[in-house]
Amino acid sequence: MATLYKAASVLPRAGVRMNGGAVVVEDGRIGWVGPAGRAPAVARTVDLGKATLMPGLVNAHSHLELTNLRDRVPYGDSFAEWLEGVARSRTPSGRLAAVEKGIRDALKRGTTAFGDIVPPGSFEDVVAAFAETGARARLYVEALGFHPDRADGIFEQVWELVEMQQLPPNVSTGISPHAPYTVSRPLLSRLCAMADGHGRPLAVHLAETLEEMAFLRMAMGPLRELLRRLDADDPEHEPYGSAADFLAEVQVHNTPLVLVHANYLRPRDVPRGAFVVYCPTAHAFFKHPQHPALEFIEEGVRVAIGSDSAVSGPSVDVLSELRHVARARPDFDAVTLFRMATEWGAQALGLEAGVLEAGRLADLCAFEGEGGPEVMTQSDPESRCVLTVVGGRVLHRLDAA
Ligand SMILES: [Zn+2]
Repeated sequence: MATLYKAASVLPRAGVRMNGGAVVVEDGRIGWVGPAGRAPAVARTVDLGKATLMPGLVNAHSHLELTNLRDRVPYGDSFAEWLEGVARSRTPSGRLAAVEKGIRDALKRGTTAFGDIVPPGSFEDVVAAFAETGARARLYVEALGFHPDRADGIFEQVWELVEMQQLPPNVSTGISPHAPYTVSRPLLSRLCAMADGHGRPLAVHLAETLEEMAFLRMAMGPLRELLRRLDADDPEHEPYGSAADFLAEVQVHNTPLVLVHANYLRPRDVPRGAFVVYCPTAHAFFKHPQHPALEFIEEGVRVAIGSDSAVSGPSVDVLSELRHVARARPDFDAVTLFRMATEWGAQALGLEAGVLEAGRLADLCAFEGEGGPEVMTQSDPESRCVLTVVGGRVLHRLDAA
C-alpha cells in the first residue's frame, strides 16, 4: 500500500528545500517527490505537520559489536595501548542486546543505515540485531592477520561470510582489511581482488594516528611493538614508506573504497573516487588536531560521517556526531554536513539511498521544526526526530509536540 508523507519542509537532497512538500513511498522505494498540492492520490496520507522531512542519516563507520564496552577503555596517550585494552576487554557477554539497543537508539534519532565493521566472530550477532531492528546495514567483514602465513585461512573465513550467507534483505556485505599494521600484503591484495571482482565495497582504517604514520614510514614504533607482544609480527615485513605507498597497493576500482579516519592523510593522496569517513566524536576522544575534512571536500573528495565505536564516543548515531561538529567546528555549513550525512554516506556504502528521488530506497527521517538541515543541529530548543522509515517500514514515530 502506498503512503504519502507530507511535511511543512522537505529536503530531497543537499541544497534543495521544498516548502509544503510530499513523498510517496511504495514497495520499499520512493515513488514520487514534489509539492504536496500536486501529489498523486494514494491510499494513505501521513501529515507530519511542522516538520522537516529528509533522507535518512547514514552512519558510514561503526563497530556496533563493541557497544557493550561503552566507557570501558579510557585513552591515555598511546593508541597501541588503547587498542590492546579494547582487544583484552572484548566479550560476547551482553553483545547482542547492546547492539540491538544501539541500533534502536540511533533509529530514534534519524539514522537509517550503518556501515558496520564486523569481525567474523561477531557476524551472527550483528546480523541478528539488524534482522530484528530493520535498520539497513552494509556489514564489512573484518580481516586481521599481519603474518603472511595466515593469509589463506583468513581469506577463506572472510569469503565464507561475505559471499555465502543467507542474509535478510536489509543487510548486505562488504570487506574490511582492518589497517596497514594488521593486514599482510598478500591478504590485502586478495581482499582487494575479491572486493573488485564481486562488487563488494571495501573499507580500511588509514592514517588514523601518528603511531600508524611511523609504522607506515619505518615499520617501527608502538604498533610494531604491539604486534610483537601479541606474537603476530612478521619479522620480514618491509615498510610501505607512506600512506600514499600503502594506497598504491589497495587496488579497488569497481566498488566504493572507503578510507576511515584519514586524520593525517593529504587530500592529494586519496585515490580518485575514494571516500573518506570522518568520525567527529572519536576524533575528539583521541585528541587529534583539526580533521582535514573540509580540505578533502575542497579537493573533490566525498567525505561521509561515522560514529566509530561506543568505546571512543558517546553514541553510535549520526545526529550526535552532527551536533558535535556544529558545536566544535563553526567552519562547517549546515548544507555540507547534511550532504556528508546523507548522499555521500549512502554512496560510500554503495546504497541507493541518501537522496529523496523516485526509484531510490525509501529510507527517510523527519525532524520537528520547519526549515533547512539546521533543524537537526539547533540546540535551542533541541529538535526531535519524529519519524524514521527504512525500506518503507516505519521504525520510529513520535507525535510532534
Ligand atoms: Zn573504526
